[in-house]
Amino acid sequence: MLHDNYGINEKGHLTVCGADTVELSEKYGTPLYILDEDCVRAKCREYKKAFEKHFPSGSLPFFASKALSYVGIYRIIADEGLGTDIVSPGELYTAQKANFPINNTCFHGNNKTDDDIEYGIKAGVGYFVVDSMEELNALNETAKRLGKVQKILLRLTPGIDPHTFAAVNTGRIDSKFGSSIDTGAAEEITKAALLLDGVKLCGYHCHIGSQIFESEPFCRAAKIMTEFSAKIKQKYGYEAEVINLGGGFGVRYYEGQDEPDTDAFISEIADVIKGVCDKNGMKFPVIFMEPGRSIVGAAGVTVYTVGSVKTIPGFRTYVSVDGGMPDNPRYALYSSRYTALIANKADEPCVDEYTIGGRCCESGDMIGEGMLLQKAERGDKLAVLVTGAYNYSMASHYNRIPKAPIVTVSNGSDTLAVKRETYEDLTKNEL
Ligand SMILES: *Cc1c(COP(=O)(O)O)cnc(C)c1O
Repeated sequence: MLHDNYGINEKGHLTVCGADTVELSEKYGTPLYILDEDCVRAKCREYKKAFEKHFPSGSLPFFASKALSYVGIYRIIADEGLGTDIVSPGELYTAQKANFPINNTCFHGNNKTDDDIEYGIKAGVGYFVVDSMEELNALNETAKRLGKVQKILLRLTPGIDPHTFAAVNTGRIDSKFGSSIDTGAAEEITKAALLLDGVKLCGYHCHIGSQIFESEPFCRAAKIMTEFSAKIKQKYGYEAEVINLGGGFGVRYYEGQDEPDTDAFISEIADVIKGVCDKNGMKFPVIFMEPGRSIVGAAGVTVYTVGSVKTIPGFRTYVSVDGGMPDNPRYALYSSRYTALIANKADEPCVDEYTIGGRCCESGDMIGEGMLLQKAERGDKLAVLVTGAYNYSMASHYNRIPKAPIVTVSNGSDTLAVKRETYEDLTKNEL
């Protein structure tokens, strides 16, 4: 089944990490996010191992926590010895709540406010990933005022189009993120950073996009970034210690989709960097990467209860579930394709194509169209696979629907990690 942490038990029920998803949905209610902790840990180890094998010592994968942010996930990531990316003071605060080692964080974002900057410096963020000249100057001033020297990486755009969905494609020249190498902005901001004493320039960062399935765009980015570093060394005598190549490793959402081989990709990327370094008499820098989706995606499954099943003759059959765009806005936002099944009939054949609708008062509230499912009836449990990334973290209260809980499963046993919101939670800030 799609990923090897999914299975079907003797009752014909879908299992995640050996746990029965139908039983979990009866115990905790629906909609329910289930997260396979063992699968998350295995992914972390896969990255760490590949990094140790192919990159110099000090290199580290950073979990991009915008993919999934709640207190417990930072504990798991810390436990596995990865760093973490944060993009807002809210994510930073959540990591602090988990006692995450804040020196192992990169602070991202194309528009950090003065308050964000001060909060990050005071919290002891490892690296600010500086997006613009304005941010560089504001960061320098604030660090000096606080009597600190803040380590930074500069976010650069290498001018790469990895052919993913436009909203998650971030490395082109025309992007709201970073300083372009092609236009000369990257060189300008590097020169400026080298002159400031409130910041210490440690190297460069890029992130070319998400859901990338070929190694070629990563290798091209690695080459452009390392060549940029070589050019700066030649012109100004500064050699970067760190190059951060961002995230974007693809995840299989449906049958027939390929998945990157982590070790093979990292090995190819390492070869490219080494080649450029050797040619230019540079040391192989410390490498960071920032996998988000590929760490938590396949670990997650969402379980819903089926309500109405409505056939419109000559058109289609709608199956409506008790969640939808509030817990998973990705179909509404990007037409993202998922795999679903009836969790309590997982061993039965798929009989029909269904459109899975959510419960919101909005036609665009769907989980998918043309989805092959077992015969759906009111009361069935419908499971959507590979929802670990960008579901809970993108959840909203649209239609005043309380956010669904997260249950983690490890070694077959379940633990409540995030409680279901109550109606009271919905109004608690309202005067
Ligand atoms: C979103 C993002 C990531 C993670 O991307 P995935 O596709 O989830 O791996 C990493 N780095 C930065 C800067 C990002 O914005």
